[in-house]
Amino acid sequence: MVYINVAVCLSVLLLVIGLSVGLSVNTFRGRDALDSAPLIDGHNDLPYNLYGKLNNHLSDFNFESDLSNDSVWGKKACDSCFTDLPRLLKGKVGGQFWVAYVSCSSQYKDSLQLTMRQIDVIRRFIQKYPNNLQLVTEAGDIETTWRSGKIASMIGVEGGHSLDSSLAVLRLYYDLGVRYVTLTHTCNTPWADASTVDDGYVYNLTEFGQAMVYEMNRIGMLVDLSHVSHNVMREVLAITKAPVIFSHSSAFSVCNHYRNVPDDVLHLVKKNNGVVMVNFYSEFVNCNASRNATMEDVIKHINHIRRLIGPDHIGIGGDYDGVSSMPVGLEDVSKYPDLFDRLYESREGEPRWTKEDLEKLAGRNLIRVFQATEAVRDSLSSELPYEETITGNELYIAQRREGFNPGSCQSAIEWDNINVSEIEQSNSFSHFTTRAAYQRLEVNGC
Ligand SMILES: [Zn+2]
Repeated sequence: MVYINVAVCLSVLLLVIGLSVGLSVNTFRGRDALDSAPLIDGHNDLPYNLYGKLNNHLSDFNFESDLSNDSVWGKKACDSCFTDLPRLLKGKVGGQFWVAYVSCSSQYKDSLQLTMRQIDVIRRFIQKYPNNLQLVTEAGDIETTWRSGKIASMIGVEGGHSLDSSLAVLRLYYDLGVRYVTLTHTCNTPWADASTVDDGYVYNLTEFGQAMVYEMNRIGMLVDLSHVSHNVMREVLAITKAPVIFSHSSAFSVCNHYRNVPDDVLHLVKKNNGVVMVNFYSEFVNCNASRNATMEDVIKHINHIRRLIGPDHIGIGGDYDGVSSMPVGLEDVSKYPDLFDRLYESREGEPRWTKEDLEKLAGRNLIRVFQATEAVRDSLSSELPYEETITGNELYIAQRREGFNPGSCQSAIEWDNINVSEIEQSNSFSHFTTRAAYQRLEVNGC
């Protein structure tokens, strides 16, 4: 009897020990960080697909359905379509910058009108799904919106050509809810060079470009340095009063594509307290064309940036719907949690990611930069709006270099009183900066 009692006691004891050991086993997975902090993606081009496929007729878009195999939006029908509501929810997306992008071919023509159409479609899109999306224009509203079960939806404008070299347009974009402007897309503007200029500078950041940055600082618009030339990155970082973002760029020393950020600039980003939101696009993360890009390539970029400047300056900017090829393992917007699981594994030789680090990567770094930008705005509230305007000469030279017939489609006051023969004599226009410029040479008018 005594033996039986002892045996029962021992069994109970073992059970208790077993249970407590079991309970204390770490069951945390990387994806769990996306339950304690919002995952904020810096760049999604769904609005451009809405334009390209539907001319912005939202009534024809089934956002609430899984479109993976749709005859228009599915994998087989569309190589740049990766986004719908079910997959965003599966991907635990808590905040998204929806991008108002228009092609560089609209520069000096209808870029402003087309950009307004994109801002309009983003706003209508957000309003159409009030249970799932909410327009957010203040950093402090991101987390509360996400906690209420909605995707904090923000607007970015991609490319300075959308500003038509006007601070007035910049200010009005802000009033419409835009919270970042990418200084260039793949075309130079008359005041800043794009990353495609890899054989020497054309403008770098001009005096007017500096005024653009200062005005962005003054009104609280995030300065986005994705797409600009490496020199422009350095020049903006030397003058900006607020931290910058790279809404969708990876690391140049891991894959030496000019869209990626070189190491010296990464150090400047740390000093500036900014954030580089890593792009997933296969061509930017894998410079080896002989094999498909995978999630492991993206991990290399993230870990490189972390090793160089720490976990406080990295974010996520997938570039979904803006590109035609995504890495294996990150095929659409449902895959972010897998990336966070994998980072938390911290394999040999990799930095160890804690829950807090993953929360920063997911969204807290971006929120910090957004808040700091608002603080700069508030500290400058007594400053009057900048009244700099670009000169007719600058516009003439820029358009001439791009192969246009300068001013032929513009009537603004800055085109009055420019001395064409003087400009022609003092500038060499034998070098055109882009391939598109050659193609335009034969075109008369604008
Ligand atoms: Zn882009």
